[in-house]
Amino acid sequence: MNIAVYPGTFDPIHNGHIDIATRAAKLFDKLIVAVYERPGKSVLFSVEERVEMARKAFEGNPKINVESYNTLTVEFARSKGAKVIIRGLRVISDFELEFQMALINKKLAPEIEFLCLMTSQEYAFLSSSIVKEIAALGGCLDSMVPAHVKEALFRKLKETPFGVPVISLRD
Ligand code: ADP
Repeated sequence: MNIAVYPGTFDPIHNGHIDIATRAAKLFDKLIVAVYERPGKSVLFSVEERVEMARKAFEGNPKINVESYNTLTVEFARSKGAKVIIRGLRVISDFELEFQMALINKKLAPEIEFLCLMTSQEYAFLSSSIVKEIAALGGCLDSMVPAHVKEALFRKLKETPFGVPVISLRD
């Protein structure tokens, strides 16, 4: 079976992630969306919440599974028998980071390939940080995240009103 892993923080999952995963799933027998438990950056949602939101987003797609992990991404991929790691590219600045990570991971696991899919035009601006910031400022998220993610965001922001730094979009 041809298996790929799509790793990320998914804090929370948004339509740009869903687009990449759905397109990648068409290229493989199975795609595992891998939610990294402890990223260096601070997160709004627990890993359980991030997994649950992602599972709900893909419940109609039998080729996509969602799991969490807390090891090296290449170790997780190996443990699942995956030969490919998927990443998404939006802007040139994404490329630099992805390129560096791909080279490091290639050193660690030469048998695993890194496949970057270009964002679809309508999601080029979309990131989890932007989504959280718009939610914190009460903006419309309808074209950016599924309804259950929107609800989870507003619920979470009520619990932790200062959980999201609001800097760039306030005006
Ligand atoms: P990470 O913290 O690993 O960057 P993210 O959850 O932010 O995790 O993103 C996971 C992957 O999805 C990354 O490869 C990222 O570049 C990609 N991605 C994020 N947003 C988009 C988007 N709007 N379009 C395409 N790819 C995206």
